[in-house]
Amino acid sequence: MRIARFTPASGGPATYGVVEGDGDDAVVVRLEGSPFDGLQRTAERTPLSEVTLLAPVEPSKVVAFGRNYAEHAKELGNEVPAIPIVFLKPSTAVVGPDAEVEYPALTSDLHYEGELAVVIGRRCKAVPVEDVAGVVLGYTVANDLTMRDIQKSEGQWTRGKGFDGACPLGPWVETELDPSALSLRSTVNGELRQDGTTADMLRDVAECVSWVSQAMTLLPGDVVLTGTPAGVGSLQRGDDIAVTIEGIGTLATRIAVG
Ligand code: MG
Repeated sequence: MRIARFTPASGGPATYGVVEGDGDDAVVVRLEGSPFDGLQRTAERTPLSEVTLLAPVEPSKVVAFGRNYAEHAKELGNEVPAIPIVFLKPSTAVVGPDAEVEYPALTSDLHYEGELAVVIGRRCKAVPVEDVAGVVLGYTVANDLTMRDIQKSEGQWTRGKGFDGACPLGPWVETELDPSALSLRSTVNGELRQDGTTADMLRDVAECVSWVSQAMTLLPGDVVLTGTPAGVGSLQRGDDIAVTIEGIGTLATRIAVG
């Protein structure tokens, strides 16, 4: 099932819905309330083309893994970490599908990083690896936008990866998916840049979620980013980035011209 958040073309408050069908036939069935309280379908169906999709969840926090693919660690001249590297992206970094993100004034080296995003379904703490599936709502696509020069020059990655717009998420949460071997591709202006598989993660989804939850309570809608495969690179103003994960869909983001 694909769970989206959207506003109707006519305006109105953000609402959750279930996306059904594909292409021109796709519709959004409006849900009553939040998918975290059970799925209550309404009779309201709207063509997908007539709504504006928003980030599919509103996380209290996004917790992200660094260097979780060996080839990506290598391409930036880094070792694979013996102990996981995790960092936070604030809620203010989250934007939805088709967002236009400003090129931050602080940087002269903005990078894309296509990633599988895990969406937490219920409040949890200290979750054993074998129990992680029970706390996950589903999966979406993320772009861990990074000011690479700032990331490298500062001891912590908070500014380099936490600026406004640094976490595009979407287009929806797929709730029925085995995340263990999904193709992940990123393009910039239609040109293939990343062509990886989640099978190459050093620590898999269950290990990532369990590791974070040993330290902090995860809330419904919180997001765990699982790292990026090789092929990251610089963006310019006006670039279009598209990250596609098998079984979920494509997350498109544009870097503003101005
Ligand atoms: Mg990343």
